[in-house]
Amino acid sequence: MRFHRPSVRARLTLWYAGALTLIICIFSAGILLFVEERLYAALDAQLGRELATIDRVYREEPDELKDLAPHWGVTLFQVNAGDSIRYQTDEWQRDGLARALQAGGSIAPMSWLAPNGRRYRVQHASASSYRVAAAIEETSLRDTLRTLTAILAMGIPFAVGLAIVGGYFLAGRVLAPVGAMADKAREISAESLAERLPVDNPDDEFGRLAKVFNDTLSRLQDAFERLRRFTADASHELRTPLTAMRSVGEVALRNPIDAGAYRDVIGSMLEEVDRLTRLVESLLTLTRADSGKIQLAHEIVDLGALAGSVIDQLRVLADEKQQDLTLRAPTAVQVVGDAGLLRQALMNLIHNAIKYTPNEGKISVELKVVKPGQAAIDVQDSGAGIPAEHRHRIFDRFYRLDASRSREEGGVGLGLAIARWAIEANGGRIELASDCGSGSTFRILLPTQDDVSAHSKR
Ligand code: ADP
Repeated sequence: MRFHRPSVRARLTLWYAGALTLIICIFSAGILLFVEERLYAALDAQLGRELATIDRVYREEPDELKDLAPHWGVTLFQVNAGDSIRYQTDEWQRDGLARALQAGGSIAPMSWLAPNGRRYRVQHASASSYRVAAAIEETSLRDTLRTLTAILAMGIPFAVGLAIVGGYFLAGRVLAPVGAMADKAREISAESLAERLPVDNPDDEFGRLAKVFNDTLSRLQDAFERLRRFTADASHELRTPLTAMRSVGEVALRNPIDAGAYRDVIGSMLEEVDRLTRLVESLLTLTRADSGKIQLAHEIVDLGALAGSVIDQLRVLADEKQQDLTLRAPTAVQVVGDAGLLRQALMNLIHNAIKYTPNEGKISVELKVVKPGQAAIDVQDSGAGIPAEHRHRIFDRFYRLDASRSREEGGVGLGLAIARWAIEANGGRIELASDCGSGSTFRILLPTQDDVSAHSKR
């Protein structure tokens, strides 16, 4: 048989009832002990007073000892002088209380169980020539204690029962928000990520839990939304070259054309294939970046040499547009990072600068150390610049200022997104300083390794 752990409500109730039972038991035992102590103290005080009375009467008017029982209710006592009994009450004799004195010689009050089954409180006092002993029956005291014990013993189960019922009810009320949260959470699916858990009191534990869960839901919703947009944008971008290829092919098939025209058709199809290839490569890069599974190399990278080689590779494009592409790298700067990714980021920025700067424009790439431990590469162009309202979104995937122009230039709107990821993966960041009309400046900031040169010399 499988053992099911009881619910939180049941466990809370049990803990609560258990703790309360323990407290009630300790409290009841305390009350019993206290009352017993007080009752015995009162009895002993009475016994002490009786002893004093007997003693005084014996000393002053011994004949009146017999009046003590009828007039003063002092019924249990004995007076001895040496070994002979001077006086003893009938009750004393009847109940065999003389044996109590043999049982204990203490002058402090003591409880004694008589052979008749009754309990007595017995005490004696000694003078030089005589000894007085008195006793009081404990029956009524014991009855009182027994009654109190019975009341407490009956009250405890009643209180525990009440505690269980009350505790169960209270635990149910306290845990109600959890039930409501669970019901709501069960309803939330990928399609209803906009829903939120109810928050009764944002400052209590459950409220904080619900808030944390809601924050997680918000992040999930954002991620889902971004994924959905990305998939939609990617499909759209993939469809455009495919549609272009299809229509170029269909037109060519429909009309009889000569070999030269076929070559043009194939050429334009290959262009679209190139675009598709670039797009798929970019998508792959971003997907791998999102998965976080890319193993970054940690190599020493000479930023000046890297920028030089990227510029050499792109110079032919700048030359086509008669642009002035220059590199300024007055000091050698080394960073530790993944050369491939850094190269890709720089390539995207410089390529953009060439694409979006008109013919005969100026593009400068400058490498400098902005502060100890931080290097910057500025890619500045004399193009149209990026209007302020677009700057915060320019690094978003598929975001383009002018989609048709970008497409004409072979862009798909992923270059800056990839550049930003590549730089951030290397511990740096990209900033955009752009004034409309006077070109754009993209700045890559990277941490330099102060001990890089020492490292490389070793
Ligand atoms: P694309 O592949 O379209 O170039 P990017 O992500 O590289 O995509 O750039 C996004 C958009 O930012 C581009 O479509 C373009 O409108 C704008 N942009 C990027 N760099 C520059 C620049 N140097 N000057 C002006 N606009 C730019």
